[in-house]
Amino acid sequence: MVKLKLEHLHKAYHQFDAIKDVNFEIQDQEFIVIVGPSGCGKSTLLRLIAGLEEPSHGQIIMDGQCINHLSPKERNVSFVFQNFALYPHMNVYHNLAFGLKSRKTPKEEIESRIQNIAKLLHIEDLLKRKPNELSGGQLQRIAIGRAIIRDANLLLMDEPLSNLDAQLRIKMRKELIQLHQHLKTTTLYVTHDQAEAMTMATRLVVMNQGTIQQIGTPQEIYNRPKNVFVAGFIGSPSMNFFNGIINNGKIQIDSLSIPLLESQLTLLEDYNQQEIIIGIRPEDFSFNPKRGISFQAKAEIVESLGAEVLVHFKLGEQPFTARLKPTANVQAGQPHTLSIDLEKIHFFESQTKNRIF
Ligand code: ATP
Repeated sequence: MVKLKLEHLHKAYHQFDAIKDVNFEIQDQEFIVIVGPSGCGKSTLLRLIAGLEEPSHGQIIMDGQCINHLSPKERNVSFVFQNFALYPHMNVYHNLAFGLKSRKTPKEEIESRIQNIAKLLHIEDLLKRKPNELSGGQLQRIAIGRAIIRDANLLLMDEPLSNLDAQLRIKMRKELIQLHQHLKTTTLYVTHDQAEAMTMATRLVVMNQGTIQQIGTPQEIYNRPKNVFVAGFIGSPSMNFFNGIINNGKIQIDSLSIPLLESQLTLLEDYNQQEIIIGIRPEDFSFNPKRGISFQAKAEIVESLGAEVLVHFKLGEQPFTARLKPTANVQAGQPHTLSIDLEKIHFFESQTKNRIF
């Protein structure tokens, strides 16, 4: 069942188009994660859905009804902000009760809902405390509790974990996944964090400059990015890009000549003698010659991360990064023989930057 549908949604601030012709459908109970570089319009999109901003044109349709004309309160949408936005003079209990009271919920129901949420979020012992007596992680739980207590139709979260330290983020990430499995509220979640995006999303929306670049499951987007922007944005370290020319069954990158697989050749038939962009993820290089073709490159910088080693190489003048096993004995300044898994190469058009197949 379609929960939310955005049709030709557009938002201009004076001359600047922050959201340009955005179209997509969210199914009931989905957990959609929106990612994209700073300023690409993620928060604006959430604010439009919440009713905090008015679209310049286009429609927001919830449960089959256009809600453009409804106030934020009438939309029954909950919002969790980055800065928690709790009332400082109220204790946790009253912060949780506030939205319900303003909706004239009976007292007994408020009490039972608060007890349920407190149990769910492990905050039973905190109900009498004021926000200034809580840690970052506790504050975040209360902010989430306040958003989910009123059974909203849609939950919008704008970088809710970004003020927490790295360890707490990982813990809260897991808790949010569990919470969604339990409550199943349709959720739109904005983040800068790749790990959050990949692990939490049922579907990922990648945005750039006010437009949607690709929508899909995290795996679909990682394995088959639609264009160079998505390929470079999703994945850390980023995919490596090389300019190459297709020449009689091979791709020539600088002095390296890579023979293509039969299946690739057929699909690249129209590109013979043309420049194309080749994408290779850092983990698709290895020291194992059985995995594809081998070549020599000079290691420039070696970053040892414990479980893996990131090595920055140069192939002629083109820099690239490989993610290798820590057992690899890589020395900066030395040439090394690397292999590329041919099946893992991504091909993009030079002009449009779109994926070829
Ligand atoms: P970030 O990740 O940095 O939070 P974002 O993707 O959420 O960024 P938005 O906050 O949605 O980006 O902003 C999108 C664009 O719209 C930005 O260029 C921003 O400067 C512009 N913008 C946002 N609000 C306004 C406003 N009230 N008036 C004018 N321009 C605005």
